[in-house]
Amino acid sequence: MKQRLTILGSTGSIGTSTLDVVARHPDRYEVFALSAATQVDLMLAQCAQFRPRYAVMASGAHARLLAERLKQNDLPTQVLQAPDALETIASHEQVDAVMGAIVGAAGLAPCLAAARAGKRLLLANKEALVVGGEVFMRAVREGGATLLPIDSEHSAIFQSLPEDPTTWGRRVDHVVLTASGGPFRTRDPAGLRDVTPDEACAHPNFSMGRKISVDSATMMNKALEVIEAHWLFGLAPEQIKVVIHPQQIIHSMVQFRDASIIAQLGTPDMRVPIACGLAWPERVESGAATLDFTSLAALTFEPADAARFPGLHLSWQALAAAPGTTAVLNAANEVAVDAFLQGRIRFDQIHALNLATLEAVLPSNPDSLQALLALDAQARARARQLVQRFN
Ligand code: NAD
Ligand code: MG
Repeated sequence: MKQRLTILGSTGSIGTSTLDVVARHPDRYEVFALSAATQVDLMLAQCAQFRPRYAVMASGAHARLLAERLKQNDLPTQVLQAPDALETIASHEQVDAVMGAIVGAAGLAPCLAAARAGKRLLLANKEALVVGGEVFMRAVREGGATLLPIDSEHSAIFQSLPEDPTTWGRRVDHVVLTASGGPFRTRDPAGLRDVTPDEACAHPNFSMGRKISVDSATMMNKALEVIEAHWLFGLAPEQIKVVIHPQQIIHSMVQFRDASIIAQLGTPDMRVPIACGLAWPERVESGAATLDFTSLAALTFEPADAARFPGLHLSWQALAAAPGTTAVLNAANEVAVDAFLQGRIRFDQIHALNLATLEAVLPSNPDSLQALLALDAQARARARQLVQRFN
């Protein structure tokens, strides 16, 4: 039986890499539904190639445009409109697996719907888990979903951990998330004030969406990943450590009680964790190049400099604070990155805005999707007000 897939965010960097892997295995996978925000041309091309039953667009205007173009091309895909339709395609009874590859908290509701419906949920959309926290993990448990991490660090940890999660507590001492250090790892911190969006998005090893690229430059991406690791693997905040490893060959590692370390290695190519999640526990060809050890010059490691990357430590602080604080941090950071990309605040003001929003918004333990979305909206509104003051 073929696995039927819904891909949320199919036109993005993770979405297109997922379709690249899927296209290599027409005998194993079939695309049931795709979704995108505004990219009508690319969605049309994906519908022509993969023939999904449904395509979801974020606005009525984009949905109408896509429907017209599909008709002109004699393609039978039905077009639906977000946000409600995202939950429909994520939880549809004919869907086996859902790839969560929307960027930001916008992906929370459909990922939760997939979790509640007991799907195999491939999670790239780390913000959904950072915002959803306990509510998200409860939905996975109660829905009987299989949650498979796609973020490369978390896929590495998942692959390095013993198969039986009930043994993790007594066997695992801590995990080490590796970080590339982004494009500003060696730049004088004083010069970071005036970097441009294009400089921040020029990641040394990966071509990714602009939001995660800016997050990699500030290392807020690693901060979000610390929070993600906390929820995925049930680890205490102090059991999650970060080390900079610019070559991105070791994707992360687990240190056990006896000081033995198991790491996962490979070329830096997101198709590897995507193929791993799609096929788990089987293994299928991903299209990625294999690692040639004899051509590797060196694997190097260094600590993350707190003066250069002040945002990284907000993760441990937010995890230690009141429940819901990680949702406030995520909302602030989404607003800050957007304001930076629009040229409204400077690069160094991303951290200042995150701090100021955390100080201004006190969360009251959000225990439902509704409460989480309300907190997210409240924190965004506050962060937007603060952006005005920063100008
Ligand atoms: P991207 O910007 O390239 O793609 C985002 C996708 O989501 C697009 O299809 C876009 O149309 C859709 N989208 C955006 N906003 C939306 C909204 N409001 N409603 C509905 N759809 C919307 O992003 P990406 O780099 O592919 O990252 C996707 C997620 O995966 C992020 O959470 C990111 O942190 C995570 N991730 C990405 C990488 C990577 O290498 N790109 C690695 C690890 C984790
Ligand atoms: Mg990652």
